[in-house]
Amino acid sequence: MPHSAASQSLADFIQASPTPFHAAASLAARLQAAGYRQLDERDEWSLEPGGRYYVLRNQSSLIAFSLGQPGALDNGLRMIGAHTDSPCLRVKPQPELNRHGLWQLGVEVYGGALLAPWFDRDLSLAGRVTCRDDQGQLHNLLLDFKRPLAIIPSLAIHLNRDVNSGFAVNPQTDLPPVLAHSIEPNRDLRALLASELHSRHPDHGPLQVLDYELSFYDTQAPALVGLDGDFLAAARLDNLLSCHAGLQALLDSDGQQACLLVCTDHEEVGSASCCGADGPFLEDVLRRLLPDDSQRIRSIQRSVLVSADNAHAIHPNYADRHDGNHGPQLNAGPVIKINSNQRYATTSETAALFRHLCQQVDVQVQSFVVRSDMGCGSTIGPITSSRLGVRTVDIGAPTFAMHSIRELAGVRDVEYLHRVLGAFLNCERV
Ligand SMILES: [Zn+2]
Repeated sequence: MPHSAASQSLADFIQASPTPFHAAASLAARLQAAGYRQLDERDEWSLEPGGRYYVLRNQSSLIAFSLGQPGALDNGLRMIGAHTDSPCLRVKPQPELNRHGLWQLGVEVYGGALLAPWFDRDLSLAGRVTCRDDQGQLHNLLLDFKRPLAIIPSLAIHLNRDVNSGFAVNPQTDLPPVLAHSIEPNRDLRALLASELHSRHPDHGPLQVLDYELSFYDTQAPALVGLDGDFLAAARLDNLLSCHAGLQALLDSDGQQACLLVCTDHEEVGSASCCGADGPFLEDVLRRLLPDDSQRIRSIQRSVLVSADNAHAIHPNYADRHDGNHGPQLNAGPVIKINSNQRYATTSETAALFRHLCQQVDVQVQSFVVRSDMGCGSTIGPITSSRLGVRTVDIGAPTFAMHSIRELAGVRDVEYLHRVLGAFLNCERV
């Protein structure tokens, strides 16, 4: 796939996926279209040899797998892991604020968001809403307003003269977005959601909104930027870029090996949840693929997990934030992430396998280790590796502005990651 096609496919995926619920639904739709069949964890599973399936948990985490040729499972699984969530502003349970003639919604910060870039953006609202119909039945419905219905205006510099020498954001007081003028009687978010959902799902009849998980997002579409179109600017590149690359690799795989893609929610808040990487989702699925304990352990010990999550490219204006010998560059290939304190799960063995795969498909590879005087981030790699006992390599596309509302990746890296993950899934021996 040429760079531009890979970037366009990723841009479409990001646009369709403003929340983890939508990301999981986008993954599911593309898998379904490619012939993967949905499994329900509440049912018995009867898996056919060579079958291709996917399963959702909490509508926000997804595992897809292809069983490969007969005996492929005994040869180990080629697993790719990524996460569906991104830092954002979540709407509070009773969010309505009516102040100085304006209607605002109170928000809670989800994950380690870079807050300054949220100001002066054309925001929309999306997520999952749980409703009751007139028969007393509950429904979990996804909702995406799509249109820009909110904004967080900056305070004018005239009212904050020192702002350019340090911009502190108080998340409680500074962030509630403005949606409209206040009116009498006061507006009610649940009523707004009910009427929006009713217009989209008239078949359900009147709906009463009981609860929701909604977040704001930037409506600006992903764009190729730069004089030569070298960069892709978009929201949620961390980590929809990796979810998308893993999905494309799985869809392109040759069907010989047993392959699995796991994309989980709640990574940005530590992964400890029923559907997060620190919950039992992946183990539960593997137990059903391989019910015999001894056979499952043998298979896991022959498996490798590529934990794909973006890496920090070296920023020319802040180059001192990187170790001088470990400054990954945009468009120069995926980055192997190493941390001797196990914030990344990479070992010399798994890093070598990844280097080998990159060489096989003619993709350059880079490495990252954090400065010795700075703390290191982490990923689902160490969590999954320590829960399953599976050999793992942490890698990712180099990016700028991680956790901003608009991040930046290299267009060639999108295709490079897709290519090397494809080689991994088709690899005969790991
Ligand atoms: Zn991430």
